[in-house]
Amino acid sequence: MTSRIQKIENNVQDIHSVAWKKLCEYVDKVAQEEREEFSPLEELGQELFSQIYTLPESISKLKKVKKVWLYGSNLKRIPPEVGQMKSLEYFDPYTSYSLHWFPYEITRCKNLKDSRVSTRALYGNYKNRMGFPDLMNNPVRYSGETVHCSICDKSMSYEETNQAWISLRVGSDVLPLLANLCSTECKDKLPKPSEGYIQFPHKGGSVVKQLPDEDETFELEMMQQDKEGDIPTESTKEDDKASGNEKPVLLKLIRKLWKK
Ligand SMILES: [Zn+2]
Repeated sequence: MTSRIQKIENNVQDIHSVAWKKLCEYVDKVAQEEREEFSPLEELGQELFSQIYTLPESISKLKKVKKVWLYGSNLKRIPPEVGQMKSLEYFDPYTSYSLHWFPYEITRCKNLKDSRVSTRALYGNYKNRMGFPDLMNNPVRYSGETVHCSICDKSMSYEETNQAWISLRVGSDVLPLLANLCSTECKDKLPKPSEGYIQFPHKGGSVVKQLPDEDETFELEMMQQDKEGDIPTESTKEDDKASGNEKPVLLKLIRKLWKK
């Protein structure tokens, strides 16, 4: 479960590239024309869009945008300014396989009811429980020298912030969110994490123990059912002993076939 812990990559975007300049211009245009949809792929074309790894902070100006289309992007992160997109209702970064987490500020989009996220790519997802990066030794940095508290919005330096991961339902999915916290008071204001995920805000890394993933849960349930259903006679007891670990292996195989 903890074998795939990644390192957080900061400075993901070349801001001097043509692609980035075009994207910033597009954000300005969408804001100015008070458009309700944001679809950078349509504006930039595939080649330039593929060079986009984050979104500019100016997305905070997209107050009228209801739908965000980011299908098939190479995005690695979304900036916290997404929380200022007050009209956001639908968020679609489907098949953006490098997008493993979201800023906590996305929970401020109160109209966000529907999303289409490739959940298998998310940290802590229930299918494979991909490990959370270690925030102690490898904190997340956004652009600029200061960061805002995700709860009270207080501005602080990166030395002052306490970062934590928390898994919460946003739109249609449970998302791993990064929170910047200024104090224990603000940390205590974080909601209870979604059921089936780590039940407290945490710093990630290999010390964090997650719940079993989908395959493991399936195996556990089947073994439990098996136990309950069995009437233990002398002969089956012997059979079980003889077969040893064959049952879990068989279940794993069945599960794999089902997936196909
Ligand atoms: Zn705070």
